[in-house]
Amino acid sequence: MRRLAAALAARQTPDFEAWESLMLQAARRGGAGVLGSLLTHWQQHAPREVILCQCGQRMSSRGRRGKGLLTTLGRVPLARSFYQCGHCGRGRFPEDERLDIINTTYSPGVRRLMARAGSQTQFEQAAEDLCCYAGLQVQPREIERVAEEVGRQVEHWLSEQQGQVLKSEPAASPALEPKAKFYVSFDGTGIPVRKVELLGRRGKQADGSARTREVKLGCVFTQVGLDKEGYPQRDPDSTTYVGAIESSALFGWRIYAEARRRGLDQAKTVIVLTDGARYNRTIVQTHFHDAVHIVDLFHAYEHLTAIAQLLWGPEAKAPKAWRDLLEAGDIRRLVRKAGQQLPASAQSRKAMVKQLRYFEKNALQMRYAEYRAQKFFVGSGVVEAGCRTVIGERLKQSGMRWSVRGANAIIALRCCILSGRFEDFWTARTQ
Ligand SMILES: [Zn+2]
Repeated sequence: MRRLAAALAARQTPDFEAWESLMLQAARRGGAGVLGSLLTHWQQHAPREVILCQCGQRMSSRGRRGKGLLTTLGRVPLARSFYQCGHCGRGRFPEDERLDIINTTYSPGVRRLMARAGSQTQFEQAAEDLCCYAGLQVQPREIERVAEEVGRQVEHWLSEQQGQVLKSEPAASPALEPKAKFYVSFDGTGIPVRKVELLGRRGKQADGSARTREVKLGCVFTQVGLDKEGYPQRDPDSTTYVGAIESSALFGWRIYAEARRRGLDQAKTVIVLTDGARYNRTIVQTHFHDAVHIVDLFHAYEHLTAIAQLLWGPEAKAPKAWRDLLEAGDIRRLVRKAGQQLPASAQSRKAMVKQLRYFEKNALQMRYAEYRAQKFFVGSGVVEAGCRTVIGERLKQSGMRWSVRGANAIIALRCCILSGRFEDFWTARTQ
């Protein structure tokens, strides 16, 4: 390598970038060679163990079988021992098990990169990124397969942790700052799925059919301080996410477990922010009954505008008197005032009654003046931004059609990464 360097440096015009990439290639090739020797050395010196079959019988060695491994340093050949059971015929590669390369030709390091790249961007783009950043040549389909596999492992790890958190006593959660306000917020967002995932489902299309399935996304964050204008400020890096395409009952347990993991039991002030959908209320009643439940102010404004438009046409805005009543949280007077006149057509009247009922039903969760006085967040902006960044940016691109299984794997992966927990998962995975 030193000779190569001398030959390159002797040229007249320097080409720094070319030098860099040549050196990197040489370093990779050298490293792959050393890695290969390391593996062989380990195989020769590892203690011989008795290999047992699932059926309980002792397995016997059937010689070595080779496979080419793709590592972050390049291809490394590996010949590992194959064991077979004389009783039932099952086979095992014990060295693959020890090296964490069962049924795969990608090293753990490469799989981690593939999972991360595939969670960030479309698989074709991820393949280009890996080639460019890591010199790895892998097919988009392979990235898809590995990213989804790792995503399913993440989901498995998360659900095991969920189980532990739900079983554990409150003290097992991390310490919270005593003054911290503890927020839980969740919302839904549709992602495009394959036709088979929609059979028998009603949707929002004109003909009643559906094109999307709803991902439920939840987040937990804390707030201690206020900004310069005296508005509540979210603690930086305090937001963690959970999400899946699943029933609201299952999702309720998922978000509850996450809240407990984050310290729900220690929190003195717990606030749940939702958009007022019916299943939200059920989740709050089931899991967060002691919390202050706030219905997002901006959704409330949208409903108020809808009433104005039913009365005065599509350009209408809610009168200031109504908006003041909403900000004051005086929903009883607001409903009385806004309901004084009814639209002419029966259809509009029906829609109007529905809107008024939204306010009546959520009145207790709309005491905005009170919340503002206590410096609480009154908007669900954090989870809505989460729906865009965690879900939308990766799963709602044009031309995409997800399977529920594939989408849930990528959602688990993204929630894990964006909650800053991927390293924890990866370490726990090998133990
Ligand atoms: Zn057997």
